[in-house]
Amino acid sequence: NKQVVLKDYVSGFPKESDMHIIEGTVTLKLPEASSEVLLFKNLYLSCDPYMRILMTEGASSYTPGSPLTGYGVGRVLESGHLDYKKGDLVWGITKWEEYSLVSSDQTLFKIQHTDVPLSYYTGILGMPGMTAYVGFFELCSPKKGEKVFVSAASGAVGQLVGQFAKLAGCYVVGSAGSKEKVDLLKNKLGFDEAFNYKEESDLNAALKRCFPEGIDIYFENVGGKTLDAVLLNMRLHGRISVCGMISQYNLTQPEGVTNLANMIFKRIRMQGFIVSDSYNLYPKFLEFLLPHIREGKVMYVEDIAEGLENGPAALVGLYSGRNFGKQVLVVSRE
Ligand code: NDP
Repeated sequence: NKQVVLKDYVSGFPKESDMHIIEGTVTLKLPEASSEVLLFKNLYLSCDPYMRILMTEGASSYTPGSPLTGYGVGRVLESGHLDYKKGDLVWGITKWEEYSLVSSDQTLFKIQHTDVPLSYYTGILGMPGMTAYVGFFELCSPKKGEKVFVSAASGAVGQLVGQFAKLAGCYVVGSAGSKEKVDLLKNKLGFDEAFNYKEESDLNAALKRCFPEGIDIYFENVGGKTLDAVLLNMRLHGRISVCGMISQYNLTQPEGVTNLANMIFKRIRMQGFIVSDSYNLYPKFLEFLLPHIREGKVMYVEDIAEGLENGPAALVGLYSGRNFGKQVLVVSRE
């Protein structure tokens, strides 16, 4: 049972060498009296930015020497739980290894629709999709004609926020870290405008150029300097959905936000959220999104890495923007 294991706690930027691949053992049998345990074959694993936060020593961090945990798609090989049976496909929290014993009281959803790629349940139809849906529709209450800005816009979450904003009749601009990503946003994903934040010496000026009348909704994925420039450009009664701050995850000292008082003057609502608090909305989300996918009205870009041994590189690549779209790791296709 091949596993991706954290060697030791990480400080600063994570490196491939912070993890290694080991040959672990798994008993391919359920323990006795295991009514809550499933034996899983992992098929697709999700590389997610929050995983870096769990590599820092702390109460809920990863355990060095043990496989990473994270979201993934798997097939049930054996089940001690009445709701799951052999052969079921599921997505939820699993481990970075070929086979896992998974407790059914963790986040776990049975996959009912298999007419779409199974890897979608690590992205558009899984945790990142729900994040875009909850953070945009539930927290920001978008109205037709409003002006929306999304950072890390070509990523797993951002590419959907932009498309949802268009479905809601908004004007949407995204920022991303390369020319190829900016082209994707403008030419394939339907963003009205996009810019490469790495090539803008003055983010405030870039935002003024794209939003001469200001921003109504900001979907925050990166934090730091971007958030500071956005605060200057928000409109009265704007909303900021604080989804993530990836630019801060590897810093030992967070970068200061100096424009925070704009929240008061402009009566901005800025709200943080954790997607797992809203998993009760998953059926409503599927009902909304599946028809759009089937009709080709919403698309999803994936960056597929093959094999557990390429997992550390794929995960570390998120923090330098190496991924082009949702970073998926294939463990097995069947
Ligand atoms: P992505 O697929 O967008 O991958 C991460 C991207 O972040 C990279 O491709 C890179 O794109 C960008 N990035 C990396 N470092 C920096 C930096 N220093 N400054 C600016 N951009 C950077 O990830 P996700 O879509 O999965 O996640 C996006 C955000 O949402 C993250 O902050 C994540 O933590 C958060 N999140 C929060 C959840 C919640 O429940 N609140 C749930 C899921 C995600 P580029 O080339 O454009 O720089």
